[in-house]
Amino acid sequence: SASASGGNRFQLYEPAMSSQAERHSAIERRLRLALTTDGLSLAYQPKVNLRSGLIEGVEALLRWEDDELGRVTPDEIIPVAEATGLIVPLGQWVLRTACQCFGTDAPFERPLSVAVNVSALQLDDRQFTRKLTRILEETGFPAERLELELTESALVHNPEHARVTLTELRALGLTFAIDDFGTGYSNLAQLRRLPIQTLKIDRTFMMGVTTSAQEAAIVKAVMALAHALELHVVAEGIETPAQLDFIRELGGHHYQGYLCSKPLDRSGLLAFMKALPGTTEHRRVTSTRRV
Ligand code: C2E
Ligand code: MG
Ligand code: MG
Ligand code: MG
Repeated sequence: SASASGGNRFQLYEPAMSSQAERHSAIERRLRLALTTDGLSLAYQPKVNLRSGLIEGVEALLRWEDDELGRVTPDEIIPVAEATGLIVPLGQWVLRTACQCFGTDAPFERPLSVAVNVSALQLDDRQFTRKLTRILEETGFPAERLELELTESALVHNPEHARVTLTELRALGLTFAIDDFGTGYSNLAQLRRLPIQTLKIDRTFMMGVTTSAQEAAIVKAVMALAHALELHVVAEGIETPAQLDFIRELGGHHYQGYLCSKPLDRSGLLAFMKALPGTTEHRRVTSTRRV
């Protein structure tokens, strides 16, 4: 295998990995196996309240370290899973695992909301609501603490079905965020008809806010739109205090990013949160307190 050959120099010419198609089928084959052998995991990235500094929730992100393929990132896994239909069992696994991890007997000092990324093809599944209801029943996870992150393309791809599904799930107590907002095709008239509570501003915009007048203008426009539509705003990919100040001054509600923490496994998250200053239930991420 490529890893056994012992160097990148060889990997470049490894015949078995020479084409995109072979990489795709290797991922498919190993992913099928990983799904049945407990080979996948989730990392959790804190979502911080911009005013209080409290970590109020986490986003669950897929992680996979395969014996043959090594580390495979979600940007590679998700397209293969979507093309092969594996996204349906994979998505179920992610939802179930995230709900199990943060249920009522979880060792966290305060209840956390959990955000899970959901692909368009999962929403297309006519059984989605039923399956999700069963996961909530079996794990005892409160629906009010579960947020689904959907992309603009997922929502406009089959808008009437998306509207029906989201309305059903909203009635159960779930909330919804539009992920990577601003990077996709947004039919604002369609989006307005959906029961969405939150916009997540894409990291690519946040990256430039303190150096590019154009990026800053885009983020300001998204904030104004969110305010007019009474939506919450989460800023993704905050890496510097200057980016944090920018979004806080504009009235953003939450942020995520390496400035607070990278995505962590559950025990890493627990240790990170316990080490924050403050008393039980009121520990704060201190970098957000500078105003
Ligand atoms: P996303 O949902 O927009 O997640 C944010 C991505 O940005 C994550 O990458 C996260 O690790 C990364 N990130 C967070 N903060 C920072 C930062 O400060 N700097 C930088 N450079 N990066 C940051 P990741 O985990 O590689 O996931 C990539 C994408 O894959 C996600 O984007 C999401 O669209 C998709 N994805 C991940 N897990 C799942 C899943 O379980 N199901 C589905 N359908 N998609 C998933
Ligand atoms: Mg997301
Ligand atoms: Mg995102
Ligand atoms: Mg993204």
